Amino acid sequence: MEKLIYEKSRPGRRAQTLPAPGVPDVKLTDLLPAGQIRKKNPALPEVSELDVVRHFVRLSRLNHSIDTGFYPLGSCTMKYNPKINDAMAALEGFRELHPLQGEDQVQGALELMWQLQQAIAGVVGLPAVSLQPAAGAHGEMTGLLLIRAYFQANNDPARTKVIVPDTAHGTNPATAALAGFQVVEIRSKENGLVDPEALRCVLGPDVAAIMLTNPNTLGLFEEEIQTVQRLVHDAGGLLYYDGANLNAIMGMVRPGDMGFDVCHLNLHKTFSTPHGGGGPGGCAVACRENLEPFLPVPVVARADGRFRFDWDRPQSIGKVKGFYGNFGILVRALTYIRAHGREGLAQVSRDAILNANYLKERLRKNFQLPYGQPCMHEFVLSGIWQKERGVTTTNIAKRILDYGVHAPTVYFPLVVPEAMMIEPTETESRQTLDEFVEIMLNIDQETRETPDLVRGAPHKTPVGRLDEAHAARKPNLRWTPDQ
Ligand SMILES: *Cc1c(COP(=O)(O)O)cnc(C)c1O
Repeated sequence: MEKLIYEKSRPGRRAQTLPAPGVPDVKLTDLLPAGQIRKKNPALPEVSELDVVRHFVRLSRLNHSIDTGFYPLGSCTMKYNPKINDAMAALEGFRELHPLQGEDQVQGALELMWQLQQAIAGVVGLPAVSLQPAAGAHGEMTGLLLIRAYFQANNDPARTKVIVPDTAHGTNPATAALAGFQVVEIRSKENGLVDPEALRCVLGPDVAAIMLTNPNTLGLFEEEIQTVQRLVHDAGGLLYYDGANLNAIMGMVRPGDMGFDVCHLNLHKTFSTPHGGGGPGGCAVACRENLEPFLPVPVVARADGRFRFDWDRPQSIGKVKGFYGNFGILVRALTYIRAHGREGLAQVSRDAILNANYLKERLRKNFQLPYGQPCMHEFVLSGIWQKERGVTTTNIAKRILDYGVHAPTVYFPLVVPEAMMIEPTETESRQTLDEFVEIMLNIDQETRETPDLVRGAPHKTPVGRLDEAHAARKPNLRWTPDQ
């Protein structure tokens, strides 16, 4: 186990020296009531600056990250975060802003947000954009509140149901339920795609929307999306696009052109801003004109060459977050878009698709591939052949860690038993992909020859198998001094 910083403490060691005070000594008792003055010093670690630096740098290196290793975590688009993004967000004029500064003083920041709104509207083919939500799931919530407000404003409050396919990301049904809708799940066809017949059976005057991602979570493009959108619209419903999988389609096809009415984009996925670790995420929600009046306030608007926050939106659902979105993330996203340009973004998607199909074809002999058609930016394998040898997908995922690679997403989507969902992204080289194939083939061989080695994995990580539910619900975050 790593030592805690407290355990490195040595009496009298210090990380700083303060200059001598330039004011006369005052007695603490003259300033504070005696009862509020501590009798003993607090039990803080006594360490040098070098102790602190080494401790935290060492800790940071115990984590896996996209900057230290391959990260094929399906559905998450763990692509490289170009350092130019950080450099732009760190420019003094952006970094030193205060959210309560007047519009006159922050014209550049407003212009940046306006440009990002325009860029995103162009990428998704929907005209109106809010940059306020902080993550994908938050964007889903915002989008469904727009849909609810829309039907209420149109005197159609009986639309209480939201349809999701059985391949949906868990956040979709969760969001629909949280937004007050009843969730209706439909089964996918044999080939993993939405079944228009199953959809027809549940459509009616009580349906508000369907939530889809395209490509879906199996990495398959919904070829019948035109039929789906016609059916839903004919029944008076709307289509919500979960844009987490946009990395597969940029510059080639747009959610708006597919018939979607509202969508979210995870800026920390497709647009390369940092992802996870509890740091700020970013999300854009885009919609058609008919939903625009309901967007969160304020929206950044331009008039007479000036930019301003438009608060005068009487039908708005209100605010969904403090201030105006995670601004530093917005700077990073626009940097990424501008660095690539329209053709560059299309190339991103083409390369992401190529990398995924390359891995899929090289792995399908050794791991079962339930949906064999060409995939988009990700694909799903099943570990059932290995399970027949007594080694589960959990075991394989843990063994992958021993090779210095992050595990794929496992046991999702739910329609595939022992699922492993692999998304290499476009930023990985042929060499990295080949190394990953070698690792997977090695592990497959281990499941035949030394299955206990795989069952006991991981062997090389700082910690082994954690009780994840317990760790999340009862985290032990506090060191208690023994005194
Ligand atoms: C990641 C993801 C989400 C949720 O996005 P967050 O930014 O993690 O809240 C929703 N749907 C799909 C398909 C995803 O992959």
